[in-house]
Amino acid sequence: MESLLKHLQLENRQLPIGGGDINQAYRVTDGSKDYFLKVHPNMSEAFFQAEADGLQVLSEVVRVPKTFASGVHENDAYLLMEWIEPGQGDQRDIGKALAKIHGQKQENFGYRQDNYLGLFPQINTKSEDWWSFYFGNRLEVQIEIAKQRNRWTRQREERYYSLKEQVLLRWKDLSFKPSLLHGDFWSGNTFFDTNGEPVFIDPAIYYGHRELDIAMEQLFGGFRQTLFDAYQEVYPLDEGWQERVPIYQLYYLLVHLNLFGESYGGAVDRILGGK
Ligand code: ADP
Repeated sequence: MESLLKHLQLENRQLPIGGGDINQAYRVTDGSKDYFLKVHPNMSEAFFQAEADGLQVLSEVVRVPKTFASGVHENDAYLLMEWIEPGQGDQRDIGKALAKIHGQKQENFGYRQDNYLGLFPQINTKSEDWWSFYFGNRLEVQIEIAKQRNRWTRQREERYYSLKEQVLLRWKDLSFKPSLLHGDFWSGNTFFDTNGEPVFIDPAIYYGHRELDIAMEQLFGGFRQTLFDAYQEVYPLDEGWQERVPIYQLYYLLVHLNLFGESYGGAVDRILGGK
């Protein structure tokens, strides 16, 4: 860390910043301006490049920290960003900002490069078919990881394929244009600046079904109903969205099963359902 700061000609102001699950984070200064520095030991350059890229894309529609530098110094990957002083705001503005993100469209599902959800790879190979993208590049990638970690049983496998069949039967012809997604939309990944403007961080962007961000918004605590109501006012969800929420929460629950283990097994099984 000392060597990295010297390399960047910065000084530490306060260490470390709590709240980050994955990286070390520091408030640093060049003597006149503060910065937010994220460091991840033994990580490749691609990791923070993907984060910087996601922030760049989101910056066209919402407030995100500007990124100034990223790279690897003595095995430490780092990302130097604008320090944004946290303030108070109204969650309705987060809902409206999310609707703005989702208003960004593209022809295909996926993204021009793979990226990460936390430390897990997100395969973004472009596809014209939503369900093959979602099952193949999202759920089944996590299922493979669950298998490697001995968190996948024969029963889960059977139920998964039966659920997949049901989804395809029911929503094979679901038609919508791919939306830009934040991709990791839980309450820890937004905050307000001192003007009350929402700030979005830690993106895992790609173009997909906007109900994924909604499903995650509803999965973990921290967001208010007013956020959702404001979203609905600006960009109402399509009919049947409630029934698809569990299908999309399954992705984040599989990620949590892989991260934290069986404590998420019950929630996974409830969605996979019985025969
Ligand atoms: P991690 O990638 O490890 O999850 P985060 O990016 O979530 O780390 O950062 C940890 C905490 O630091 C966040 O919860 C947020 O409150 C704060 N934070 C993130 N980015 C900034 C920033 N640019 N300026 C000020 N505070 C920030």
